Amino acid sequence: MSTHRTLIIGLDGATFDLIHPWVQAGQLPTFAKLMSQGVYAPLKAWPNLNSAAAWSSIVTGYNPGQHGIFNFVDALPQIGTTWQPSTAMARKKDPFWRYLSAAGKRIGVINVPITYPADPIHGFMLSGMDTPDIHSPGFAHPPELCDELQRQGIDYVIDVPRLQFSEEGDPYQVPRAIQRMMDTHSRTILHLMKNRPWDTLMAVLVVTDRIQHFRWPAEGISFDQPDWAPIFSIYQQIDSFLGKALELIDDKTTVLIISDHGFGPLRLARRCLNQLFAQLGLLSYRSGADRLTNKLLERILVYGRKTIPFSFQKSLAKTFPGLHRRAIHEHELSSIDWSTTKVFYSPHMGTLTINLKGREPEGIVSVEDYNPLRKEIQEILLNVTDPVSGQKIIQAVHLREEIFQGPYLAKAPDLVIEWNYDVARSAICYPAEKEPFIIHPPKRFDAGERWTGDHRPYGIFIVCGPDIKRGSRVSNATLYDIAPTILYLQDHPIPNDMDGKVLTEIFDEDYLSHHPIQYREMPEFQWEASHTELGTEETQKIEERLRGLGYIE
Ligand SMILES: [Zn+2]
Repeated sequence: MSTHRTLIIGLDGATFDLIHPWVQAGQLPTFAKLMSQGVYAPLKAWPNLNSAAAWSSIVTGYNPGQHGIFNFVDALPQIGTTWQPSTAMARKKDPFWRYLSAAGKRIGVINVPITYPADPIHGFMLSGMDTPDIHSPGFAHPPELCDELQRQGIDYVIDVPRLQFSEEGDPYQVPRAIQRMMDTHSRTILHLMKNRPWDTLMAVLVVTDRIQHFRWPAEGISFDQPDWAPIFSIYQQIDSFLGKALELIDDKTTVLIISDHGFGPLRLARRCLNQLFAQLGLLSYRSGADRLTNKLLERILVYGRKTIPFSFQKSLAKTFPGLHRRAIHEHELSSIDWSTTKVFYSPHMGTLTINLKGREPEGIVSVEDYNPLRKEIQEILLNVTDPVSGQKIIQAVHLREEIFQGPYLAKAPDLVIEWNYDVARSAICYPAEKEPFIIHPPKRFDAGERWTGDHRPYGIFIVCGPDIKRGSRVSNATLYDIAPTILYLQDHPIPNDMDGKVLTEIFDEDYLSHHPIQYREMPEFQWEASHTELGTEETQKIEERLRGLGYIE
């Protein structure tokens, strides 16, 4: 058996746009060391621009059409649909740790998104943000891990709680909830690295994503301004955490640092598409009594958020969940008149959906009209510009079958937009015969409204270890390549239909010649899951978390 160990640290949403300048300024010494002693490259995440799909692709090596996870929930939460939060129970491909565990390797998996319930692997596992809560039966494998953490004085949290950000005052500080998550997650990882045996260990920190969503500074603010302090503090804390992790491994361990997507300022232009569709007669909003009630509810909610104490707001939301949800839905799905709507965009999920008859609860577009309509929408979107610069803000609009392949393609969005993030700003312009439409985003009142940062198509990839070349160039590394590369590092065959490839450019010639890559048809594992479906209360807990983070409407 190989004595080589593999340590994989995931940093949700970490970007070289911040790491490069801070490394150059000498402020992230551990990142600097890993990058100078190993190899680094941008990691292409697009089209997996949400963390549920992205981490599922990272750990399986397959595109969502194969593993079946396209987003945090399995359908748009529009009225009349039944939907479920995505968990590992819905993932249709095995993550790399199942193969390694079956081959007798000792595995550790900590806080990887979409891993609930924890797999009964040879080793240990704590499931990620799709876990209802730490008392859920599938959170820890073995279950006694929870007590072990408690004995260490670690008060573990799954993620940051809902509405937390509205009570956090100082914009120049790391919000308490995020700091607490940074502390408990990093302490947990270091404790388990040190006290449990492992050959391959993968742990994810999601603090990077959370702080960047809620504290990304306005455009043009330089790094010496206090606006950057919260994000900079988290990167520095991660750098020091990585330093401590490196002290716990020997020189036979290969270290991979990866992120599931990049990050940048939020582009409100994305929130204007439904209004554009409304202008063009492809979508309409309800009018009349229903809409008035929703308007009223929305006013009450906004007023309430400002004047009612936080603890009471929480109990109110609990007592009247239906009202609360209707109120926060006002501007998006619940105010759409489905009987006259052909297409709609979910800014939260980033998906374009055709209101197809027989598939959507109130679908009106016939199967014959589906493709011509997709073409028409492609044309429209390619003409959308920024009203100030006049430049096109959408680079490409892809038909789903052009970018996803596999048996679960039907779950993919009908069209996938490739934004031109450098050009898009807060409004959009569309050429019309007389005068172009200029559309500004609607006001919103949910967690997503508090976002100032959002995902970008390229994450990070850093690798360093005994068989890794120094300073080699890697081109076209994608999320799909991580799982096969991890399997190869452990001398394990690669499933022959995997979408990803082993990143051979990172390895020494000597290692490559002594370790031919083996491909094999792999068996699918039938695990006796500790848990097979989510109860109503569990579903609600996950839903609450996703809404609080701004990931669903
Ligand atoms: Zn995010």
